[in-house]
Amino acid sequence: TPPALELRNITKTYTVKQGLIGKRRPLTAVRDVSLKLEKGEVLGLVGESGCGKSTLAKILLGLEPPTSGEVLVDGQALGVQDRLALARRIQPIFQDPYSSLNPRKSIADIVSLPLRIHGIGDAASQQKAVRDMLDVVGLPPRVMNTFPSQMSGGQRQRVAIARALIMKPEIVICDEPTSALDVSVQSQILNLLGDLRAEFGLTYLFISHNLAVVEHLATRVAVMYLGRIVEDVSSDDLFDASAHPYTQALLQSVLTPEPGLGVPDTQLGMAYPNPIDPPSGCGFHPRCRHATNLCSAQAPRPVPHRDGHVECHLHDPETAMFGTD
Ligand code: ATP
Ligand code: SF4
Ligand code: MG
Repeated sequence: TPPALELRNITKTYTVKQGLIGKRRPLTAVRDVSLKLEKGEVLGLVGESGCGKSTLAKILLGLEPPTSGEVLVDGQALGVQDRLALARRIQPIFQDPYSSLNPRKSIADIVSLPLRIHGIGDAASQQKAVRDMLDVVGLPPRVMNTFPSQMSGGQRQRVAIARALIMKPEIVICDEPTSALDVSVQSQILNLLGDLRAEFGLTYLFISHNLAVVEHLATRVAVMYLGRIVEDVSSDDLFDASAHPYTQALLQSVLTPEPGLGVPDTQLGMAYPNPIDPPSGCGFHPRCRHATNLCSAQAPRPVPHRDGHVECHLHDPETAMFGTD
C-alpha cells in the first residue's frame, strides 16, 4: 500500500526583509525534503525553533503552497481542487488552544462547525455527534453550552481535539499540541492522543521541539535542522542506534536532569543559526564536535541507515574516510 502522505522534493522559500530598512532576501524554510507518512504510524518531527516544522505541516495540510515539489496522498499527486476534498481526511491540531477556539462561540458550536461546513447530518444528529465526541475526549455533556474562556488550557485542547476528530479523519497533524500546557496536563493530553490513535486507527504526524514529548508517542522520529530532515529513525533505534551528531545532542538534552527545557546551550555550544544566512556545507558544522574541513565545504548527502536515513559525512562510506578530527 502507498504511504498515507508523501512529500517529494519539497522546497519552501519565503522572501523576508532583514531589519527595518533591510533589503528583501530569500529564506529557505524547507529544503528539498522527501518524507513518507505510512498508514497507522506516528511520525514524530522534532527540531529547534525555526527549523521548518510548521512550514512542513502547513504544506501537508494544503495551507501553504510549496515553492517546488509534490505532495502525494495515497500515492496520488494532488491539485488544489483535490486538497479541498481531502480536508475531511486530514485534520490539524495546533499548539494554542487559546487562539484557535473562537471565544464568542459555545463549545457545541465550535465542535460541530466542521460538520456544518461540510453539510453532514441535521442539527439533532450534529448535537449527538458533539456529545459523543466530547465523551471520547473526556469532557462531560454540560460543557456544550459553555465558552472557551470558562475552561482550562487542557480542557480547551480537548475541545480542539474533539473538533479535529468529529470529521473522522484518517490523518491528524499535531503541531506542538501540548507546548502551551502545564507539564502535568501535557502528559494527560499525550495519553489521550495515544488512546485515540488506537481507538480510531489514526495516522499521526506529531510535531514538537521537545524530543521527550515526541518520543512518548512516536513510532518513528524525523529530526529536522535548517529545513532538512537530517535523520529519520524508528523509535526503537532512537536511543541505541541513531547516528546524527545533532540527534545525539538532542538525546543528551532529554537525558539531562532538567527535561522540558529544550536543548541546553551546554550541549550544542552556540545558538541556532539564522536561516537567512545558513552555514556553508553541513548546516550543523558550527555546533558539531565532529566537524572536519570537509563538513564546512560540502553538504552531506542522505545515506540509508538502519530502516531510515542519515545526512552526515561520518556515516557516508564515501566521505567517512576523511576522519573525524
Ligand atoms: P517553532 O518551533 O518556533 O514553531 P518551526 O520549526 O515551526 O519553529 P517554522 O515556523 O516552519 O519553524 O519557520 C521556519 C523558518 O521560516 C523560520 O526562520 C521562520 O522565521 C520562517 N518563516 C515561517 N513562516 C514565514 C512566513 N510566512 N514568511 C517569512 N518567513 C517565514
Ligand atoms: Fe557534524 Fe560533519 Fe556530520 Fe555535519 S557532516 S553532522 S558537521 S560530522
Ligand atoms: Mg512551529
